[in-house]
Amino acid sequence: MRNLMDITDLSVFELQSMMTLADDISSNPQRYGDALKGKKLATLFFEPSTRTRLSFEAAMYELGGNCLGFSEPKNSSVSKGESIADTSKVISQYADIIAMRHPLEGAPLVAAQNASVPVINAGDGGHCHPTQTLADLYTIYRKKGKIKNLTVGVCGDLKFGRTVHSLLAALSRYDGIHVVLISPKELELPEYVMKQIPKAFGMTFEKDESLEHAISKLDILYMTRVQKERFHTEADYERLKDCYILNAEKMGFAKKDLVVLHPLPRVNEIDPEIDSDPRACYFEQVLCGKYMRMALILTLLSPEFFNASDCNRGSMVRLFSTAKLQNDAESELERSRLYCKNPSCITSTEIGLQNGFVLKEASQKEPRCPYCDAKLQ
Ligand code: ASP
Repeated sequence: MRNLMDITDLSVFELQSMMTLADDISSNPQRYGDALKGKKLATLFFEPSTRTRLSFEAAMYELGGNCLGFSEPKNSSVSKGESIADTSKVISQYADIIAMRHPLEGAPLVAAQNASVPVINAGDGGHCHPTQTLADLYTIYRKKGKIKNLTVGVCGDLKFGRTVHSLLAALSRYDGIHVVLISPKELELPEYVMKQIPKAFGMTFEKDESLEHAISKLDILYMTRVQKERFHTEADYERLKDCYILNAEKMGFAKKDLVVLHPLPRVNEIDPEIDSDPRACYFEQVLCGKYMRMALILTLLSPEFFNASDCNRGSMVRLFSTAKLQNDAESELERSRLYCKNPSCITSTEIGLQNGFVLKEASQKEPRCPYCDAKLQ
């Protein structure tokens, strides 16, 4: 069974197959109208969402399936203290596939480890958002006819913006991608994201704090919202919220064929005056998101995928038992336990994950939490 936790769970070949499928769905929607008749998608949204949830639901309905779920945790048994593990086991009895969004990083991975149906990460805290990346890649592919040899600017909140983390992980596997990181110092890309970028495909980076200065070099400009909900203080958010505003004046310095993307919702970072500029592609990106979610659901529910090798990161995790350690050998194990100290990680709340864990690859120099990718300590 396949899940989608992280965009790199899909190979570049699989991404291309999904884009080809999305092309076919958009040109021949009638062919797919009954494709998933009788199947149900559960949307478990523990955090607000407009596009992602409705886009998943629209995708499922357009494939002939049905949807169930909730859009606020207070409407679920989680408000009574139910664990993610139990919720996932229960929902697996009702639905054929689950899309989960959660404010804690790694929560969808816990769901995937416990569900008996495929689970899709629909955004976990500030960690990643692979299905937004499907929308982003497909929009780039439609507008540019390729995903290679491009200069891509990512602008705004690169620290908490999970869509940027997933997008860069995906783009790093294509040839000739140069990335311009445009952010204030406080909102720079986390080092774990940089560390995960494979060197093999030659992705290159530069930093530029000035959008005015950077814009003229770009083929793609990916604007992002400053992620208010992930700030620890209101004052910090207020200070940084309007750090970049794309307006007609700045667009005047850009290439004629620049593609402006934004995962939405926008707050202030793109002046609505540029919505009518043909280079503003963020509403088309929304439509691309629906087609790619259709392609993804079809792919995960198609029988041949059940035979594919399991590439879930969940299988790399080995949890220690919660039993009290008694003898020396066990104390030795106790000392070698690794903990995730990230308060935004699901390991901080989910029972059974708080007891430390080791990775199978004990030789790993810098062990990272398999749920949130933070350094283990
Ligand atoms: N909709 C995107 C997300 O869920 C972007 C955002 O909220 O700023 O991450």
